[in-house]
Amino acid sequence: MFDKLLVANRGEIAVRVMAACEELGIDTVAIYSEADRNNGHVEYADEAYNVGPAPASDSYLDQETIVETALEAGADAIHPGYGFLAENAEFASRIEETEELTWVGPPSDAMAQLGEKTRARQAMQAADVPVVPGTTEPVESAKEVREVGEEFGYPVAIKAEGGGGGRGMQIVHDSADVDDALETAQREGKAYFDNDSVYVEKYLAAPKHIEVQILADEHGNVRHLGERDCSLQRRHQKVIEEAPSPVLDEELRQEIGDAARRGVREADYTNAGTVEFLVEDGEFYFMEVNTRIQVEHTASEEVTGIDVVRWQIRVAAGEQLDFSQDNVEIEGHAIEFRINAENPADDFAPTPGTLETYDPPGSIGIRLDHAVNQGDEIGGDYDSMIAKLIVSADDRKQCIKRSKRALEHYDIEGVHTIIPFHRLMLTDEAFVTGSHTTKYLDEELAEEA
Ligand code: ADP
Repeated sequence: MFDKLLVANRGEIAVRVMAACEELGIDTVAIYSEADRNNGHVEYADEAYNVGPAPASDSYLDQETIVETALEAGADAIHPGYGFLAENAEFASRIEETEELTWVGPPSDAMAQLGEKTRARQAMQAADVPVVPGTTEPVESAKEVREVGEEFGYPVAIKAEGGGGGRGMQIVHDSADVDDALETAQREGKAYFDNDSVYVEKYLAAPKHIEVQILADEHGNVRHLGERDCSLQRRHQKVIEEAPSPVLDEELRQEIGDAARRGVREADYTNAGTVEFLVEDGEFYFMEVNTRIQVEHTASEEVTGIDVVRWQIRVAAGEQLDFSQDNVEIEGHAIEFRINAENPADDFAPTPGTLETYDPPGSIGIRLDHAVNQGDEIGGDYDSMIAKLIVSADDRKQCIKRSKRALEHYDIEGVHTIIPFHRLMLTDEAFVTGSHTTKYLDEELAEEA
């Protein structure tokens, strides 16, 4: 096992990783930017190093400085968390090539393959996993886009090869709009992901977002921990996630889980990962693989009792998964609420400020992954999520009741948060019945406006 691990991240996920290290007896090293000097993850770590000014490009994304810091601190492993460098295959390969260090993540080759969406689609097809209908090669011309529109019908989505989070995705409803949309998708791909390559797939009308948590070791064992339903989205960004999905039956659950396992095997994947699918009319379609720990891994941990982050570290150290697929049991229900410092009454605009009051709820069934304290400054430099509230119960109905209690007792003053929005969702018929699709929230909010 490792002696000392550097977490190349900040906030709640950095603390989450360090908590796993603590239980494994591994010393922890934090890095921080000027803006995060007093951040909770700095306080939590055994040692902490300043890696540069507030802009992420000068600190949390500075590969050179992070590697130097790890070596200087005598760390023997690096965990990237999510965001920042977590899906950067070049960074992963750099760590792989540094003799003193181990990368706590998938092999850089698998990251590169699955990070490019058309290559990922090819791998899935090779593993007999259904993909969203569309091209498996990049497209360059409007003509190729129109061919997909004619074959599968409009709307179609033009997606950036390197894209994610709905960025670099253009939805085209009509053949007349293809030229402009293609140009925009290429431009956004270039700007966000330094890759102007795009491909086309059918844009499904009302799908569910269902994703499968995977763990794979270096000894050929691949397990799935069931699915999460992340269908409650605003502008393609997840807002509430839960496990298991309220709409999947046992047969489809097995099928999707098996497909996810086949898909990652095809890419010689190890460590934790998530295979994302869209599900519509009882059919499932591969969308993409996220080659990192995800924000919402907590929901799967709560219903399986399996510590995904600890396994990431153990697998990276060469250990073997000690449970079979049959040992994975989904028990009860868990819902994760992202506590974002945003104002739902003002189009979810971020609201930086001082946390005058921070008094989170407690008692049975409540888990908080956060790294903030009362009095903290919530800055505008990074994403607006300040905490995650994960509520567990025996079943979904009880989980919703418990979530109401938890959110009722979550007192935050000084910044706006989306807690009032979450409370509304808990009485929303579509959410309560589980019938909401990925389109639901945007349509609702558009109607209100
Ligand atoms: P991620 O955000 O996980 O990187 P994407 O950017 O590919 O993934 O997709 C984000 C969201 O956009 C999905 O969860 C879904 O709501 C929507 N989406 C993506 N592709 C399609 C599609 N072909 N049809 C319908 N919705 C889609």
